[in-house]
Amino acid sequence: MKLPKVVEDLTNSFEKLPGIGRRSAQRLAFYLLRVPQKDLDSFAHSLTNLKKLTKICTICHNLTDQEQCAICSDPSRDGSQVCVVESFQDVLAIEKSGSYHGVYHVLHGSISPLNNIGPDELYIDTLILRTKKLTVKEVILATNTSLEGEATALYIQQALNDIKVKISRIGRGLPTGVEIEYADDQTLVHAFGTRKIL
Ligand code: ZN
Repeated sequence: MKLPKVVEDLTNSFEKLPGIGRRSAQRLAFYLLRVPQKDLDSFAHSLTNLKKLTKICTICHNLTDQEQCAICSDPSRDGSQVCVVESFQDVLAIEKSGSYHGVYHVLHGSISPLNNIGPDELYIDTLILRTKKLTVKEVILATNTSLEGEATALYIQQALNDIKVKISRIGRGLPTGVEIEYADDQTLVHAFGTRKIL
């Protein structure tokens, strides 16, 4: 049976999302046909504005709708500690755990030669610039414990070698391969508390 074109188009869009197959995509499209029009309008509005109304923090590259994110502009955060993470989701997970009161630096990925992602594709140059400022006393490497995360941590450690700053790595208590994003609060609290000075 040939579906109306708009349903077909929507299904194709859903199918492009991570983890969504053809059947799930179709189920979502059919589900939305039963949703009130005002909810659909609101959904469409959010999609249209998702990229227009968000920005990347000019200091730490976290997600924000201002020039600087809420964490960078919070004077109660300890600017002498910079926690380096791969993604926005990692910031959310660490914030939720309440284990950390410094600021962040979001790399937007990890070094992955298989996916053609090298250091130049990540926000490592701005991390080096930030670290050179006298206010930074410790850089906490909180990339994932995956192969890519470890390679990224090692690369950054070497890149910061000439700068007089304490470098530490979280991870003890964080099982190998467990992503920060999915780690539970207790594990993250432990991982920060037992971080190892490199
Ligand atoms: Zn920021």
